[in-house]
Amino acid sequence: MQSLFKESLWGIDLGGTKIEGVILKSAQEPEVLFRNRVPTEAQKGYEQILAQTKKLVDMMCAFAGGRPKFIGIGTPGVSDPMLGTMKNCNTVVMNGKPMKRDLEEKLGIPIELANDANCFALAEARMGVVKEKFPGARVVFGVIMGTGVGGGIVVDGKPISGLHGIAGEWGHNCLHETGGPCYCGRTGCVETVISGPSLERFYNSEAGSKKSLKEIVTLAASGQDTAAQRTMARLTEYFGLGLSVIINILDPDVIVVGGGVGNIDLLYDRGIESVKKYIFNNRLETPIVKPSLGDSAGVFGAAFLVNRSD
Ligand SMILES: [Zn+2]
Repeated sequence: MQSLFKESLWGIDLGGTKIEGVILKSAQEPEVLFRNRVPTEAQKGYEQILAQTKKLVDMMCAFAGGRPKFIGIGTPGVSDPMLGTMKNCNTVVMNGKPMKRDLEEKLGIPIELANDANCFALAEARMGVVKEKFPGARVVFGVIMGTGVGGGIVVDGKPISGLHGIAGEWGHNCLHETGGPCYCGRTGCVETVISGPSLERFYNSEAGSKKSLKEIVTLAASGQDTAAQRTMARLTEYFGLGLSVIINILDPDVIVVGGGVGNIDLLYDRGIESVKKYIFNNRLETPIVKPSLGDSAGVFGAAFLVNRSD
């Protein structure tokens, strides 16, 4: 391979609607050399997802004039470390499929799979807000609060996957029964209380009218809509209760909060006040911050999956 690509990191973010690929120059200099995307076409089935992934990897190889030693791939859900099959994917055709084996066969390149929330945490740790502002941080907890709620743990620049592959799966911790039933089969998961759709549902039940989360945030700030204020109070209160569990158990050096819900400014004052109320300590030093890589975190994190040791 040409010298420019010798130390390059290759990552793919395999999402429900698009598959994105990136080649970064090196771990030390993560400059983007290549970036492109293809549609996932998940509605055409599992084989089509594999074919689309291959199409993208072929484009990357053509650009680089060679093949990489490894590719890191971020996926919804996770590959079960014991069974080798996918689980917990919201792109449901992937569930139960031996995706790592199938992709390695199809691509002829060894791959490392990880959950997309782990990739998010890894990217923010290795080249995002943690690297920029908290370079001494060793333990990073990253959460994505959006349509769903996911989380990932990175220690010394490496993602922790855990015995079952579910380390960091904060979104399905039981938080409060008023969240109601979750798609995972349990009740009151974090995701059922503080994800975007859950907050919109709560507002609807309080106000008797449907509004988007964005509108609810604006209405709450206007001070005119008490149902919107109650919805924001629910978010900040349970955000604190939920995160207190993470801090009591993991006590991370930084928490990065991504996703559409993670963008709500109230989390960074009233939400943090709520965390203080619930942790087992007399003060809160943990920085709880927004990410800096935006939508790119997933694919960058995937690229760093292949460079775990430096
Ligand atoms: Zn759940």
